[in-house]
Amino acid sequence: MKEWAKLALTEATQAGCDYADIRIGQLANEEIRIKNGIVEHLHHHTDRGFGVRVLIGDGWGFASRPQLDDNEVVSAVREACEVALASQTVRREPVNLTELEAVEASYQTQLTIDPFNVPLEHKLFLLKRAEAALHINEHIVVGLAMMKCSKEKKWFYSTAGSAIEQETVIVGAGLQVISSDGKDVQVRSYPNTFSGNYAQAGYEFIELLDLVQHAPRIAEEAVQLLTAEPCPTQVGTLILHGSQLALQIHESCGHAVELDRVLGEEAGYAGKSFLTIDKLDCYRYGSEIVNLTADATTAGGLGTYLYDDDGVPAGRVPLVEKGILVGYLSSRETAPQIGRKSGGAMRAVGWQNVPIVRMTNIHLEPGQMSKEELIATTDEGIYMEGIKSWSIDDRRYQFQFGCEIAWEIKNGKRGRLFKNPVYQGTTPAFWQNCDGIADEQDWMLWGFINCGKGEPMQMIAVSHGTSTARFRNIQIGVAEQ
Ligand SMILES: [Zn+2]
Repeated sequence: MKEWAKLALTEATQAGCDYADIRIGQLANEEIRIKNGIVEHLHHHTDRGFGVRVLIGDGWGFASRPQLDDNEVVSAVREACEVALASQTVRREPVNLTELEAVEASYQTQLTIDPFNVPLEHKLFLLKRAEAALHINEHIVVGLAMMKCSKEKKWFYSTAGSAIEQETVIVGAGLQVISSDGKDVQVRSYPNTFSGNYAQAGYEFIELLDLVQHAPRIAEEAVQLLTAEPCPTQVGTLILHGSQLALQIHESCGHAVELDRVLGEEAGYAGKSFLTIDKLDCYRYGSEIVNLTADATTAGGLGTYLYDDDGVPAGRVPLVEKGILVGYLSSRETAPQIGRKSGGAMRAVGWQNVPIVRMTNIHLEPGQMSKEELIATTDEGIYMEGIKSWSIDDRRYQFQFGCEIAWEIKNGKRGRLFKNPVYQGTTPAFWQNCDGIADEQDWMLWGFINCGKGEPMQMIAVSHGTSTARFRNIQIGVAEQ
């Protein structure tokens, strides 16, 4: 790898580049999905290639190749330089980059069982057993069991003198069940929608999910939902379980603090942000107890690494402190535009894509009370779990979410089951009405593998740590117009 890197960086320097890096990547990916007892999808994918990024004056260029040899390396550098020279002619603002320290480093996901050493038969057996356990009666019309494992190796070299090697292993699995009585259709998922829960870990993470044990419970809930009352429309107290709050954090905080969106440099998939830079360090985003952090160092997070794809060390960046907006997700290029240093959030999906500002792991920091206390101190409210539908505008301001299941909270206790719960609001009003966050006992990481951004689209994996939290004066159900 080092020889190809040396060739690329020498070629780039000779061509007059002010900065250049090469990212060599190698990916193995396995996906399994079982539907109603049948293996519906079994996919194994490997690829290898490299991407070269160069800066000439104020123009960026990028080129990638699926073959790794001397000729391809030289040809990619030349193509990237041509793109950079063309970019320079249309660029209006100068490029100022956060300084980089030269490092030599390596990183590997901490794991016990390499998922690629687990026989396929073993994985199929587990998924088949779990899927079969969903079929508790004739109302179950679809049972799904899913698993994904990936291993990505990445070698990064830059003209700043960095040589960084990182290996990331991501695993996860989940169940989904659809019930029907001929009149209504309901759905439940475990541990969450979007194919389950995912982490940077070994196969032991999948075993700990204990899919077989949880299957009958979600199937039972899916059947009960068929005859449950619809969630009543009201302005009231909402308690959100982490499975849904993770998506709320993702959409209303994570995407809203991507500095390239904020600066108007990126609007492709999907939009800009209402959290403009005049709001930094003064805007009340949430209540006093709301602390949100971007943390690329969280063990097991899908947005965890040692260095980002700019070669910047991973760190912990406060986004919202005591309710005030205090930070953004940034890169070497975007951070200096607000007088800061890069927060290390540049990530590319695969060797074939250019890095862009992405979420790392965005957490809602845990509160003081237990989840039981949070519910016990609620006289009246609705408790919701599980992602079902989501919609947010292209400034990340106004949203509506639907959940899989809800329960009434009455006099501090969980009561009747409700179907089709939805809630809506605006981002600041929602977070400003947060008056209770459960403690670290309830706090856990929710890993999503389907965060899309950019054109061409890059689908990246991110995690959100959160516990259950309570929000007052929320429009629950569809507001009357
Ligand atoms: Zn996303």
